[in-house]
Amino acid sequence: MNEIIKLSILEKIKEHANIILCRHIRPDGDAVGSTIGLKEIIEASSPEKKVFIERDDENPTLSFIGDEGPVPSDDDFMDALVIVLDCGEETRVSSKRLTLGSCLAVIDHHIKNGDFGDLSWVEENRNSVSEMVTDFWKTFENELVLTKHAAACLFTGIVTDTGRFKFRGTSAETLRLSALLLEKGIDYETIYNNIDVKDFKDVSDHAYLMNNIKVTKSGVAYINITRKIIDDLKLNSQAASDSVTLMENIKGSLIWLVFIANEDGSARARIRSRFVAIEPIARKYHGGGHACASGATVYSEEEACNLLSDLDGALSAFKENNPDVF
Ligand code: AMP
Repeated sequence: MNEIIKLSILEKIKEHANIILCRHIRPDGDAVGSTIGLKEIIEASSPEKKVFIERDDENPTLSFIGDEGPVPSDDDFMDALVIVLDCGEETRVSSKRLTLGSCLAVIDHHIKNGDFGDLSWVEENRNSVSEMVTDFWKTFENELVLTKHAAACLFTGIVTDTGRFKFRGTSAETLRLSALLLEKGIDYETIYNNIDVKDFKDVSDHAYLMNNIKVTKSGVAYINITRKIIDDLKLNSQAASDSVTLMENIKGSLIWLVFIANEDGSARARIRSRFVAIEPIARKYHGGGHACASGATVYSEEEACNLLSDLDGALSAFKENNPDVF
């Protein structure tokens, strides 16, 4: 089935002179790595085609990956193939112009929550869309060219979405495909240096946040980043987002999350887990994502408490049924 969809996507790429790639809002390493990676594969394979990355927002911490090129004009969308990568929900695409193209394809790995696009290749068990794009190149390697830089972009996407080959979804196939990327001669030490090294200010802000971790009755660890904390620390949004990783190694806390207050009174929740599926709960709170990594939004303190209580209940049930998993 996937082979047929991949072939259809290749045919659509061949048919269109203009190709526009886009990804989810607040793009992460996989969103940026997979779009730039696919852009460069298409450009190297068919230099006559015009390939653009459409986006309403960018992530400055990922600028080391490379230039995303000019944003397409409305005219560039005319008769274009639009491919959305790493986003399974139309409302979360970093573009308001999706319908301007003539054909819409989706390549994604999130748990499905509705359909969009004329054709979609979705594999929920894949750790990253960068892995899917690498697989796409490998499947058609007689026709598609993978440059060293495209390989570096895709490798960045895989290592960021797998937590350095650690999270669920990292498979033998992930390692095989990553090995093919390494064989292109990419400099992974520089990639890790760019994604792992932090400014001193961010490290010291994280020390403050770490001292403010709270734990629910059953062990859900959380940090509540209020507007006051953001203002007092002059906390940048990336450091706020990254703080979810501060709780990933706490024994017994198989679920952890950070609330990041928005200016309008709502708060974004970044939720992570080991073993316990949290996506259905995230979906209940206007979110979704993956079994063990999801996002949600709460619109009141009461909703935040309810989310915590649901997660606490899920962890309590999991611990009761799995007394050995700690
Ligand atoms: P985040 O904590 O924002 O990094 O999100 C974790 C994962 O869930 C990422 O793969 C996001 O793309 C996805 N995600 C976040 N928010 C939503 C949402 N509202 N709906 C669907 N997926 C989401």
